[in-house]
Amino acid sequence: MTHVAEPPAAGEGQATGLERINHWINGARVAGSSGRHGPVYNPATGEVAREVDFASTDEANEAIRVAHEAYPAWRATSISKRTEIMFRIRNLVEQHREEVAAHLTREHGKVRTDALGEVARGLENLEFATGIPHLLKGGFSEQVSSGIDVYQIRQPLGVVAGITPFNFPAMVPMWMFANAIACGNTFILKPSEKDPSASVYLAELLKEAGLPDGVFNVVHGDKVAVDAILHHPDVAAVSFVGSTPIARYIYETGTANGKRVQALGGAKNHMIVLPDADIDMAADAAVSAAYGSAGERCMAISVVVAVGDVADPLVDALEERLPKIKIGPGHEEGSEMGPLITKEHRDKVASYLESGVSQGATLRADGRRHVLYSESQGFFLGVSLLDNVTPEMECYRNEIFGPVLEVVRVPDYPSALALVNDNQYGNGTAIFTRDGGAARQYQFDVNVGMVGINVPIPVPVAYYSFGGWKASLFGDLHMYGPEGIQFYTRGKVVTARWPDPGTSSVDLGFPRTR
Ligand code: NAD
Repeated sequence: MTHVAEPPAAGEGQATGLERINHWINGARVAGSSGRHGPVYNPATGEVAREVDFASTDEANEAIRVAHEAYPAWRATSISKRTEIMFRIRNLVEQHREEVAAHLTREHGKVRTDALGEVARGLENLEFATGIPHLLKGGFSEQVSSGIDVYQIRQPLGVVAGITPFNFPAMVPMWMFANAIACGNTFILKPSEKDPSASVYLAELLKEAGLPDGVFNVVHGDKVAVDAILHHPDVAAVSFVGSTPIARYIYETGTANGKRVQALGGAKNHMIVLPDADIDMAADAAVSAAYGSAGERCMAISVVVAVGDVADPLVDALEERLPKIKIGPGHEEGSEMGPLITKEHRDKVASYLESGVSQGATLRADGRRHVLYSESQGFFLGVSLLDNVTPEMECYRNEIFGPVLEVVRVPDYPSALALVNDNQYGNGTAIFTRDGGAARQYQFDVNVGMVGINVPIPVPVAYYSFGGWKASLFGDLHMYGPEGIQFYTRGKVVTARWPDPGTSSVDLGFPRTR
């Protein structure tokens, strides 16, 4: 996590003169009072550009109290009114997508086109949530017994929380809050402390759209704020996206405190290339999916599994494409890949190049040779390609989360499948082939939650649900789409009879249906 500043002496909180990003509680910005804050960097320059308040337990509890108080009225708001507000939110985010994207580029570092892509995928979730009248329809069975009908309704849970990672500061919150509030819940967002501005900007748009105060709140901070959420009795459910160790902690602590939890973790996504694949197409796809957003995507391709004699021409084709990738600050026209999120993370990513080589991998492209790595104060690292990687190597065993693509060479399809299925993660995977039968077999065999067939980044559209298997997800329900609606509601079944008083009698037998 980001370094946490020590509490300043009274009155010193704003001494740096930097803009302070505040919490958003009850429809307004609220300055932090804990005395704790963290730095927000501009990753392209390496400078601390802003600071963000870190909530105390009391401040997080206050946001939860406000959300709890707003819940009865929001829950009772008609579906039609909630739908109207969701449409307005969707339109405002669409209208202000450049501003949202600019926040992402400034604090995350991703290039403008990629930031706009993130907003577009988030918008899909807002659009899905405008269908809430249809999504909340229950079921009805008439005459289950004489004069008796049964129906099922779905009701919101209450206050729900979302804890989100640095790599999608706008889209992942939208994965969560769109469906959560459309279903009638009130929401607490604890965004990443590394790039928190987009969350407050979105909160302002939600208010402008007419969302009542207290329905959507943002609490910034670190473990203190997260633990307050996990232990508070009025928080009914927690959605989390982040690294696997924290996902496991959130799941275990949240469920131990009686909450419904979905916690999405890390990934190591393999792209299998069969010998019959179109090599140029596979190489284009692997390069795009490995280095886009500097590899800081949970669905990035991090391992190419080259099957049989495809390996040599494929690695040559990958290597050939790398010098053409334009690396630079996200706001600069033409930049295709920006910096990493922090210096600490950049250095950790680079350390896997050293360890890979020392354990026998071949470094075919070394990102440390890029001029911006040595000459810029920004957190840049060029693109790297490690060939001849094997499953025992540290660089293979860990999620690197940076612009490093690894190639594992295997002799045949069964070895490729075994490699993917033995991996601790199961977020996404792809297979590149011209053989429909082989692709279908892979879809059948593989223990991974999201599969691409000649599609390198198979992020489901908003009307399906997103989620990995194994250590990539803790919990029963995937995120957004139909499973998102299920997560943010619970079912209630009503058995009703409107009898003719003339037929009433005492009957101590167990209720019968026939
Ligand atoms: P992270 O786990 O460090 O942080 C995620 C959130 O948890 C942040 O809000 C952070 O403040 C909070 N947090 C961090 N440490 C905590 C602690 N000890 N106790 C309580 N809360 C804590 O993740 P990150 O570095 O922000 O994001 C990158 C990770 O997220 C990668 O592992 C990536 O694969 C994963 N990710 C997964 C998906 C997915 O859908 N599976 C999507 C995006 C990112």
